[in-house]
Amino acid sequence: MTAAPEPAVRPEPAVRPGAPAAAIEAVALRKDFGPIHAVDGIDMCLPPGRIYGLLGPNGSGKTTLIRLLTGLASATSGTARVLGVAMPSRANLARIGYMTQSDGIYPELSVWENLSFFAALYGQTDRAQLVAALEFVELETRAGTPAQDLSGGMRRRLSMACALAHHPSVIFLDEPTVGVDPALRVQFWDHFHRLAADGATLLVSSHVMDEADRCDELLFIRDGHVLAQGTPAELRTRAGTDNLETAFLTFAAMTAATPPADPAGPPGPAASDGPPGPVGTGAADPAGSAGAAAADPAGSAGAATSAVDPTAESGSEEIAR
Ligand code: ADP
Ligand code: MG
Repeated sequence: MTAAPEPAVRPEPAVRPGAPAAAIEAVALRKDFGPIHAVDGIDMCLPPGRIYGLLGPNGSGKTTLIRLLTGLASATSGTARVLGVAMPSRANLARIGYMTQSDGIYPELSVWENLSFFAALYGQTDRAQLVAALEFVELETRAGTPAQDLSGGMRRRLSMACALAHHPSVIFLDEPTVGVDPALRVQFWDHFHRLAADGATLLVSSHVMDEADRCDELLFIRDGHVLAQGTPAELRTRAGTDNLETAFLTFAAMTAATPPADPAGPPGPAASDGPPGPVGTGAADPAGSAGAAAADPAGSAGAATSAVDPTAESGSEEIAR
């Protein structure tokens, strides 16, 4: 991956009057699957009106974290809040949009039937709004097509329309652009920025770095821990590199080398200028990594290997997996 250009200065986020300080919040959030610590004590406090990138290799806990935040999975311990409301909360779901990683649409239903069904669940029955959502994902000519006859990319686009048609305030997008062609991907990101400018908060997960620079802020995640959080520019500076993929691997290696009791952030040229350093440490829980690797060898095991050898993935756009 070539070094990405420095992002343009972004406007201040639009914050809706009366909005809580944090749109998305986690306090000591934890989810275990038997011996696997999928989410291993995450604290986060994300103000509204911004796009947050949740970046980590396969098996790092992104989907599990999103499912906890949306209330679709129950936490082993800790608290998740969206717009100040503890999740799960059925009433709060109307304010939340969630595009799942695997398309949650009904294959036998048509594009239009899927969209109107999911929109109605959240109280959106305005036909013009549904048409606008279909036009946004460029599926207006496929309204009558059964979802099972769509290409993979088209199904992603339909899922996106279903997640956004009710104009949610907080939007979780789990690997939303996988299989989407480059031109439409650009349109998606432009739209995400318009939504954030209007006050929405977006948490977008990805295991590739080429979209990271489009986010206002990034959270690097591995083995259920947030390794580092900050703007793309801050993370580059703190890691001493102009390459975000290398920055990820640097934070992973630093975290693994940091004693559990050490409260300091990672050493780096501007560590004191950035936001708080990494939370949690991989070193504190080697059993967690081993467990995750055992269940998902293509994910965590590869990440651990690459973390100690940042050159291993050079040239790849994908985070070490
Ligand atoms: P990501 O989305 O970053 O790829 P996931 O959240 O899907 O990661 O998975 C994190 C870890 O939790 C992985 O080791 C995965 O195998 C495990 N995991 C996720 N869901 C389950 C489940 N329902 N049962 C058991 N293990 C799970
Ligand atoms: Mg996932």
